[in-house]
Amino acid sequence: MRKRTPLICFHRIVPGKYLAAWPVLIGEADPSRHTFSVEVDDAHFAGWPGGSQKAGISDGVAQARRSYITTIVRQRIHQRSFRERVLRAYSERCAFCRLRHEELRGAAHIIPDGEPDGEPVVKNGVAPCKLHHAAFDGQVLAIRPDYVIEVRRDIFGEEDDPMLLHGLKGMHETHIPAPRFARDHPNREFLERRYAQFRTLEVAMRR
Ligand SMILES: [Zn+2]
Repeated sequence: MRKRTPLICFHRIVPGKYLAAWPVLIGEADPSRHTFSVEVDDAHFAGWPGGSQKAGISDGVAQARRSYITTIVRQRIHQRSFRERVLRAYSERCAFCRLRHEELRGAAHIIPDGEPDGEPVVKNGVAPCKLHHAAFDGQVLAIRPDYVIEVRRDIFGEEDDPMLLHGLKGMHETHIPAPRFARDHPNREFLERRYAQFRTLEVAMRR
């Protein structure tokens, strides 16, 4: 802390997986609570002996930069942690089509990020592949509170091609798998809210 030595911080995302942040500096210490804060900086300044001061940057500017970078890194940790925990809950497969392929897997929010209740918790998540992530976000399909998948009606009017047939229409009225632990099951009230939006869109499109 006194020497402002740049450190590397390994943040545990899930057991066995870490996200590294560098350079990390020790900020304020609170000896009465045995805690200290850490702040992440720009890698550019880690190479300067004495950090920003030697680079001719004022303390205020350097502090603002570190707090901005720390916020960004914290968001990245939350996103990665959400993704990994949701993927584990769904056994590393797409909840819609069961695709396992690593580069095509991801995690989606039921209540979108930034809305009230749109928190990065497993109960507000589902694990789709890239296709089903876009289809879920774009309300092309929805998950009912009883975990049954519904494909929007207008999709059935589109001409068949193999992806449409198997990738979308084939999902209609199938179930998403229930995660192993009850604590990871999708929140039914969140699904209900999301499904209501899907139904409103479906009705509007029929007019
Ligand atoms: Zn899929």
